[in-house]
Amino acid sequence: MADRMLKFVNVDQQTPNKRKVDKRVDDFKEIYDQFIHDKAKEQSSRCSQCGVPFCQIHCPLQNNIPDWLKLTAEGRLKEASELAHSTNNMPEVCGRICPQDRLCEGNCVIEQSGHGTVTIGSVEKYITDTAWEKGWIKTIKVEKEKDQSVGIIGAGPAGLACAEELRKLSYAVTIYDRYDRAGGLLIYGIPNFKLEKFVVERRTNLLKESGIKFQQNVEIGKELSLEELKKKHDAVLIATGVYKHKEVDLPGYNLKNIFPAMQFLTASNRKGLGDKVEDFDNGILNAEDKNIVVIGGGDTAMDCVRTAVRQNAKSVKCLYRRDRKNMPGSAREVYNAEEEGVEFIWLSNPKKFIGKEKISSVLVEKMELKGVDTSGRAKPTPVANSDFEIKADMAIKALGFDPEDLPKLFNNSKLAVSDLGTIKVNFKSMETNVSGVFAAGDIVRGASLVVWAIKDGRDAAVSIQKYLEIKKTEKIKAA
Ligand SMILES: Cc1cc2nc3c(=O)[nH]c(=O)nc-3n(C[C@H](O)[C@H](O)[C@H](O)COP(=O)(O)OP(=O)(O)OC[C@H]3O[C@@H](n4cnc5c(N)ncnc54)[C@H](O)[C@@H]3O)c2cc1C
Ligand code: SF4
Repeated sequence: MADRMLKFVNVDQQTPNKRKVDKRVDDFKEIYDQFIHDKAKEQSSRCSQCGVPFCQIHCPLQNNIPDWLKLTAEGRLKEASELAHSTNNMPEVCGRICPQDRLCEGNCVIEQSGHGTVTIGSVEKYITDTAWEKGWIKTIKVEKEKDQSVGIIGAGPAGLACAEELRKLSYAVTIYDRYDRAGGLLIYGIPNFKLEKFVVERRTNLLKESGIKFQQNVEIGKELSLEELKKKHDAVLIATGVYKHKEVDLPGYNLKNIFPAMQFLTASNRKGLGDKVEDFDNGILNAEDKNIVVIGGGDTAMDCVRTAVRQNAKSVKCLYRRDRKNMPGSAREVYNAEEEGVEFIWLSNPKKFIGKEKISSVLVEKMELKGVDTSGRAKPTPVANSDFEIKADMAIKALGFDPEDLPKLFNNSKLAVSDLGTIKVNFKSMETNVSGVFAAGDIVRGASLVVWAIKDGRDAAVSIQKYLEIKKTEKIKAA
């Protein structure tokens, strides 16, 4: 009631004090906006517009970075946003979460010459956030919908990018997803402090308003079969991501309070989205006041340790069997985690989970790097008699993900998969061995990056259009 009443209180009815506070907030916002604007302009002006744009070459989407930096430096933000959108369906997402140190920024010529990279990601985020704020980003208007339709399995970045590109071409598009919300790992995997959820919802809402149909809570393989989908639509895209977590097969694995990373992160993200999450509310999946041990050295492990810090854990330790130099996660994420108080125990491997009913500690052995393994990476080897124990009220397993068994789930033994379980495609067309069925994103590459999922989704859309054109011509000829 009080909330509803507040909405109706206009500025004239506010107390002088409230008005003062509002004004201070407005003044601060203006100063802050100006600061961000100046910063983006200053960074954009640092671009040397070098002859060979290494930043662009190393961006998976080949974004025209030098040109949108130039436009930003000149204050032509609307054009900069249009250019950014011409190659990327979610520039504000990539600007926030791409590992720029390994992609565009790591290859910036100014960075290479030792003067610090142009902060390309922040400028990309700034351009697009401004475009949203100014209302420059519009829904897709379809004059006359085509009579061919595409069914997309998975509302993650690969599925969403493909859907948007096909909708721009006036196709009828339906996305099916087993979750209750669209966005895939953008919504339930990546934490809010890295990617605010309103940023994802703003995009998915725009796609809904553009006429793309979303069928949430529909699992293909259970509620609907792949065969049914093929009959319903003229082409199908599989963009289901990879979700089977890699196990830590250790004594004590079945003690209570040992969780896979996604269970921990999803609970936290759901909580942030305002959902009722029983296992969080009753403390089971809440790190508050607990000693947390995270096992793994990739970006998912970094998200877990940083989430635990934000939940006010008593202590957060990360076990990784190689050293800092050989860690798969982004160096920037490790730095951030350390700044926030996470302790990294390098060259350490869990040997056993200890406890009665619940976990109480982890037995760890020290490792050293000797030679290289089959993948060409430094090989961790146990150091004799080096065991030590660390306290743990909760352990989180963040060792990566494998694909689910899709031929089995989809009841289609003919669908070709690699030895790792990823779907085999013709990389020129993203088509699988089943005619009219395409695939994109993590389910093709294995656990990868958002920017690559977007690239695959866009490539698949181009091929699906070609496929549908041929199908249409054949139908006309046969009639
Ligand atoms: C914790 C975490 C943090 C990450 N952080 C980053 C980061 O900072 N930067 C970055 O670039 N990348 C990051 N990634 C990787 C990135 O999120 C993925 O590479 C990307 O989301 C893959 O996109 P996708 O569309 O292929 O799959 P997903 O995003 O996984 O989407 C797949 C969708 O398919 C649905 N689905 C699956 N099976 C079915 C079915 N049978 N029927 C119906 N629907 C189904 C799922 O519900 C899901 O919505 C992170 C990943 C994780 C796990
Ligand atoms: S999409 Fe990623 S790699 Fe490409 S310019 Fe943006 S931040 Fe850099």
